[in-house]
Amino acid sequence: MIEDKNQERTSLEKLGEFGLIDHLTKDFSIQHESTLTGIGDDAAVLDFKDKKTVLSTDLLIEGVHFDLSYMPLKHLGYKAVIVNLSDIYAMNATATHITVSIAVSNRFPLEAIEELYAGIALACTKFKVDLIGGDTTSSTTGLLISITAIGAANETNIAYRKGAKPNDLLVVSGDLGGAYMGLQVLEREKEVFKVNPNSQPDLEPYSYVIERQLKPEARNDISGLLQEMGVQPTSMIDISDGLSSEILHLCKNSEVGCNLFEDKIPLDPTVISACEEFNIDSTMVALSGGEDYELLFTVAQADFEKIKGNPNLSIIGHMTQASEGAHLITRGDTKIPLTAQGWNSFKA
Ligand code: ADP
Ligand code: MG
Repeated sequence: MIEDKNQERTSLEKLGEFGLIDHLTKDFSIQHESTLTGIGDDAAVLDFKDKKTVLSTDLLIEGVHFDLSYMPLKHLGYKAVIVNLSDIYAMNATATHITVSIAVSNRFPLEAIEELYAGIALACTKFKVDLIGGDTTSSTTGLLISITAIGAANETNIAYRKGAKPNDLLVVSGDLGGAYMGLQVLEREKEVFKVNPNSQPDLEPYSYVIERQLKPEARNDISGLLQEMGVQPTSMIDISDGLSSEILHLCKNSEVGCNLFEDKIPLDPTVISACEEFNIDSTMVALSGGEDYELLFTVAQADFEKIKGNPNLSIIGHMTQASEGAHLITRGDTKIPLTAQGWNSFKA
């Protein structure tokens, strides 16, 4: 749908592997003192002094995790970094470094890989992370991207999935369901485009939800915000698979239950209107949609005054004894067990 503006097609064969690596990485600069050695040797060398190291990795495969027919390569590069940084922020840590590994087939010209790296570079600048290495190889089929994110935190600030206690408040950043509704709009337009390639869709009313899908942001602000407020989260996770699945992770790891209040789930007005148009229940979208990359965490009851009223945060429930289970309390005051219907990558 989105045409590649680059007319030139430089074949990857012409450059060779090392030429390609040099070409892709030459404009990345080092922003962190902790980067003693970045790209160019057999391994990067980092020094976090007195901080603990946090590390997370993700693998993205064409046709499984992304569809290049509506995902511009620059957005893909950006998003691939964001989803990894989100995992670091979900430890209540600061992201500092990434490595990027790609497998590309010859059907991609250099200009396409440049677009991918432009998105990666944008994310590195915006989120202040250093690109310190990776690997480059050929693929016989589609495009494959693996990113590892590295971060740092004081030991006392790290938030695990396992620390929630009964009566802790359940808090979420931002709003939910946008990324899923963005995907619905894009899938619909893709079908329309198949039938009529000349159709010019008016996507302006959906710009927020499409942006949530194609250009998500990771919450690098929440760790600092909580520190300013003097709040140490007791547990934390990022929302990649949908609210219900993430709540169940916190419950399982922390051995607690949870009451989630339907009327407290934060939804953007454009998500609500898109749900009405597609005839989908907005609560289901928030519970099961996924890919919002907001942070979900618990705090002690005593922190209520510090959290309440903050425009970035919504208190959506509280934790209970494990024996009480995990439930959604609906607007009609019915108690429904929460089930993990979030995206399961092994589903047919
Ligand atoms: P090796 O043979 O030891 O795997 P490479 O020749 O693959 O080394 O890589 C040379 C340097 O370039 C290393 O520092 C490596 O981390 C980095 N690098 C390789 N591919 C990429 C990539 N796609 N993005 C960023 N850095 C890369
Ligand atoms: Mg290599």
